[in-house]
Amino acid sequence: MTPGQVFLLALALLYLSDCFLLVPRRGFAFLNMRARGRWRVALPSTALGNDRGGLVMTMPLPPLGRALVTGLWPISMSARGFTGVVTACPNPGMRPPLRSGVFRWDDLKEVGWEGRDLLVNGRRFLRLASPQVARAYSVLFLTLARTPEAGRAVVIESWCRRELSARRVRHRLRVFERVTSALRATCNALFFVAFVAVPLTYWYFGAAAPFFFALVAAGLLMVTIGVQFWCLHRRLYPEQGSERLQLWLLVGFMPQYAIRAVDELSKGLLANVHPLAAAEALLDDAGFRRFRDAVLRDLDSPVPQVLCGEEVDAALALAVEFREQFEEPALRAVAARRLGEPVRRAPEPQSLEAGSAEFCPRCLMPYEVGSGECLDCGGVETVPLGGGAI
Ligand SMILES: [Zn+2]
Repeated sequence: MTPGQVFLLALALLYLSDCFLLVPRRGFAFLNMRARGRWRVALPSTALGNDRGGLVMTMPLPPLGRALVTGLWPISMSARGFTGVVTACPNPGMRPPLRSGVFRWDDLKEVGWEGRDLLVNGRRFLRLASPQVARAYSVLFLTLARTPEAGRAVVIESWCRRELSARRVRHRLRVFERVTSALRATCNALFFVAFVAVPLTYWYFGAAAPFFFALVAAGLLMVTIGVQFWCLHRRLYPEQGSERLQLWLLVGFMPQYAIRAVDELSKGLLANVHPLAAAEALLDDAGFRRFRDAVLRDLDSPVPQVLCGEEVDAALALAVEFREQFEEPALRAVAARRLGEPVRRAPEPQSLEAGSAEFCPRCLMPYEVGSGECLDCGGVETVPLGGGAI
């Protein structure tokens, strides 16, 4: 291979590696593989990842793809206090580590955020999906700490409703598409120059003027993308000043990052939106129904949590209280309003093996009589066929 071919191959491999998104274990990627096509949900890979997250492949051709990442609520709250223990996680595979311990609102003296870290009484309480999420929780915590105990449930309920607003998702996407249209065009031009114009001019003319013109064009496009990216990042993510320079250096000096600049901006756009709200706004009826059923089955039959640390029982009790009092009613309301129908019982497994008479109410895996529990779901008890799941 000539040095030029080796360089092009290395650039292509680097570019393909940047087409993967790291999605948290309690997160979901919403992908659109065609311009204005149908959205679908992608779960973090169980094979390519660890207990904190997994990879998801996005559309390699930048003109066509859209990629967004959302995450489940990472904190359980009640009128008494809050904890980092949550019970919901509809994704299969590994579970992210949880931190037990319960904080009472009355003991909250100081709350703030530093990058993605939510700080409580001067110490790091939890690392969240983005600085936006950390800031949103710090504002909510301040409000709850200043609210009398009798009024906190109303504050939490209204926060849950706002986090589940599909209208907010659609509005954000409309604004994002509008403000990033020029950047997307520049990224597409760089993709064409880097992978078509540069190799072809080198192939036909060698190290001559046309090839160097193509290289200069690629350089000018990268400078343009760097400027556009900086301005848009500051506008879309004003809280992320500490990360901006690092991202800008990657986008400004590495062509494979520069081509994916729009994905870099879009992946955090819905970081503080519940996945069910994103599903309501983006998926078609069949896709939403499947996603809704998986989320509700997990709510009804959560994977048993194994915790270590302080106040384990109190943290679990608070997580269950949050799920039953706030999370479940809010999610069921979304589930019903999107399709205009009451939430029905989930379907039972269709393809049964001979002898199967039970199934897992969380993942719908069929089991033989007397299996007792589903190993894939960490010990969720199986139920007889005909028992239904929701
Ligand atoms: Zn299962």
